[in-house]
Amino acid sequence: MKTIANKREVVCSFCAGTGKDPFDLLSDQSICQVCYGRKKFSMIKPIMQCAFCRGSGIYPGQRITCTVCGGKGMVKAPKGTAVKCATCKGSGSAKDSGLPCLACKGKGVITNERNRR
Ligand SMILES: [Zn+2]
Ligand SMILES: [Zn+2]
Ligand SMILES: [Zn+2]
Repeated sequence: MKTIANKREVVCSFCAGTGKDPFDLLSDQSICQVCYGRKKFSMIKPIMQCAFCRGSGIYPGQRITCTVCGGKGMVKAPKGTAVKCATCKGSGSAKDSGLPCLACKGKGVITNERNRR
C-alpha cells in the first residue's frame, strides 16, 4: 500500500516562512538557503521538533543552519519506541562542547536498540 498522505507541510523555521536569508549573509536579497525561497516544504511523517535548535532551525549561538535538522527545525522522528536521551537529558546538545549530543545525534531522543536484528 503506497500512500503520500504521510506528508506534512512544514513552514521553514530558518527564515520563519519569509523565504529570505534571516542573516543577510550575502545580501539582503538573499533567499533562504534552507527552503530556497519556497518558505515551506513537505516532510514525510513521523517528524518531530529538532531538540538541538528547539525548532528554530538556527545553530545555537551561531548564524548558520542547525546541523541536526539542516535548518528545517524538524527532524525525522525515530521509528519504534523513542525514549529521552539520558546523555543530554533530551536537550540534544552535549553539555561541555555545545555540539550536538553524540548519543542521540542532537535529536534528544533515542530508540530502543533492541529493535535491531
Ligand atoms: Zn527558509
Ligand atoms: Zn535543528
Ligand atoms: Zn542526547
